[in-house]
Amino acid sequence: MRQQLQSSEALAVSDGNRENAPKGMSHSPKEIVKTGRIWKRSSRDRASTIATVCDTLANSYPATRLGNPHDPLADLIYITVSNRTTPDQAVAAYKQLRSSIRKWDDLLTVSRRSVEKTLRPAGLNSIKAAFLLGIARSLKARFGRVTLRPLSRMTDAQRLEFLTSLPGVSDKVARCVMMYCFNSPVLPVDVHVHRLARRLGWTSRKRADQSHDELEALVPRDKRMRFHIDAILHGRAVCASSNPRCSECVLRPYCHYGRGR
Ligand code: SF4
Repeated sequence: MRQQLQSSEALAVSDGNRENAPKGMSHSPKEIVKTGRIWKRSSRDRASTIATVCDTLANSYPATRLGNPHDPLADLIYITVSNRTTPDQAVAAYKQLRSSIRKWDDLLTVSRRSVEKTLRPAGLNSIKAAFLLGIARSLKARFGRVTLRPLSRMTDAQRLEFLTSLPGVSDKVARCVMMYCFNSPVLPVDVHVHRLARRLGWTSRKRADQSHDELEALVPRDKRMRFHIDAILHGRAVCASSNPRCSECVLRPYCHYGRGR
């Protein structure tokens, strides 16, 4: 785990929360930092509120995926292309990339310039092209071909460590690939998930990439994927960064921020 937590802030995690840790990713007591006000409530009340919020969101949004490919490398490339762009632009650039190469091993021989050109609709194309070519070279060096399939034989901890060792792959991106393609019980925290969790009082951490462990300790394993997806959809549709539509929000009864508006 790349993020370092301050031991002075760390609080012991209950047995129930320890059970929430993905296989091979057991949290020691020092690794969980409880910053959300929800931790002040009883464990029963907390679990009930979290389950209600997750179920309320799941009943509000029908999507079970957000268009992510099922193949892990295709998903990693799709997420890399999607970074800091709109869903439509990401899909356009990804489709263009897929149609420009026959198989992912071709990333070893294609010119960086041509990949940059292909990714232009998504923006940041020069950086994204460098990441993709770097990922391809790393996979070739490790597995002999450009694939992530061998990760199916790894534990969750090994997958996270390997994925985050690849060029441009953050904890969030690694967790997305693990969740979508290996059914790992992780909770990727992007800006939408983080904003919603902060407003609900589940974390007070300022950065999304600092919130993975705390939110994974709160949200049960079997609800993490739906919560991730639904929080993104809710963030786009209702809980926007500026002017959230609290008066029409189904989560208002459970939302510290929304009840105060
Ligand atoms: S009540 Fe407002 S701040 Fe809270 S989740 Fe809903 S839209 Fe977001």
